[in-house]
Amino acid sequence: MKAVCWHGKHDVQVDNVPDPKVLNPRDAIVKVTLSAICGSDLHLYNGYIPTMKKGDILGHEFIGEVVEVGSGVKNVTRGDRVVVPFPIACGDCWYCQHELWSLCDNSNPNAWMMEEIYGDTGAGIFGYSHLYGGYAGGQAEYVRVPFADVGLEKIAPGLKDEQVLFLTDIFPTGYQAAEQCNIHQGDTVAVWGAGPVGLLAMKSAAHMGAAKIVAIDKNPERLEMAFNHCQAETLNFEEDDVVEALHSMTGGRGPDSCIDAVGMESEGIGMEAVYDTVKQTLRLESDRPIALRQAIKACRKGGTISIPGVYGGFVDKMPMGVVFAKGLTMKAGQTNVQKYLRPLMQMVEKNEIDPSFIITHRMSLDEAPQGYKMFAQKQDGCVKIVLNPQA
Ligand code: NAD
Ligand code: ZN
Repeated sequence: MKAVCWHGKHDVQVDNVPDPKVLNPRDAIVKVTLSAICGSDLHLYNGYIPTMKKGDILGHEFIGEVVEVGSGVKNVTRGDRVVVPFPIACGDCWYCQHELWSLCDNSNPNAWMMEEIYGDTGAGIFGYSHLYGGYAGGQAEYVRVPFADVGLEKIAPGLKDEQVLFLTDIFPTGYQAAEQCNIHQGDTVAVWGAGPVGLLAMKSAAHMGAAKIVAIDKNPERLEMAFNHCQAETLNFEEDDVVEALHSMTGGRGPDSCIDAVGMESEGIGMEAVYDTVKQTLRLESDRPIALRQAIKACRKGGTISIPGVYGGFVDKMPMGVVFAKGLTMKAGQTNVQKYLRPLMQMVEKNEIDPSFIITHRMSLDEAPQGYKMFAQKQDGCVKIVLNPQA
């Protein structure tokens, strides 16, 4: 079969690889009907996750049709159209039993690596390096889905692939980011990053009753999408003094909640410096537009900082004094996709939110290398690229 494989920094290629097989009784094989490139894939593409190997199959946002199941699979069967959550969860461990599927203790065969780095385990993730279990991803014609009984959600009849694809990751991620803010009617929510995650966080915040939404980015097409689709006011972090502008938009108080939908590739961090302890101090210059630092500075006292943006290692020296002085709440983490799948699919069915508005480019699998380049450089008005492996 064909699959999008990682070959090194800024180098993805479409390779012919062996078809996946059922390896465990709880596995299913899914024929991928639609897949997407995620901002998280850019961390791999840009070479920031050191646990990738040449030939690893990419992709953690995909849906498809079940074509084969192992003998132990009961909830799905051949022919079912399914959404596959990006975190792999066993369903049996303490975390899964407490509905914290994205923190599963049993789904990452390389948990030791995670423990060595972070002092604790983390769930396996499709197509997301050996640190997350080394699972083959879904930017491919077929994919093996372990623990197929846990979390796979059958697609309601009548819903199109493009309407449900983002339930795999970025819609729950945007939704969880907004939910973590505990939004009250009339709140102001500021969102750093008007990429797919930021836009879906804005959409969710509006749905939860936020009266004012402020989108912060530099990319004009993305800010325009935030304005047109999410009724957001916009700030360009290259032109505006973001913290000052947010204070003056909120009568001097600051937004009630701030969402960092940028993460470790925030402009101003200088990722090269992350691995270079000598240069780490560079990141402390306060005039740099580091999303998280600005969010902490801008947020009103008693407000919430919600961090869907991905961080690894020591990316920003945290101004803990400000967090303490202002009594801020901070929440972060891999999205607990399984928790949101069903309710969010029902919202799509009722036409309350259609997350497909973010799609700007549709490509075949063969065009993926060009797609990665375009998405990484935010060229050609690119917000979200979907790949059709069967085209
Ligand atoms: P993206 O790269 O398309 O969007 C990021 C946006 O941030 C870009 O538009 C960029 O111009 C903007 N940006 C850069 N520096 C900024 C700054 N200083 N201030 C404001 N905006 C800035 O990515 P995406 O797909 O929207 O994903 C966003 C983040 O969410 C990534 O870190 C991704 O890894 C993460 N993510 C996390 C989860 C999770 O489970 N928590 C799931 C999916 C994605
Ligand atoms: Zn993703």
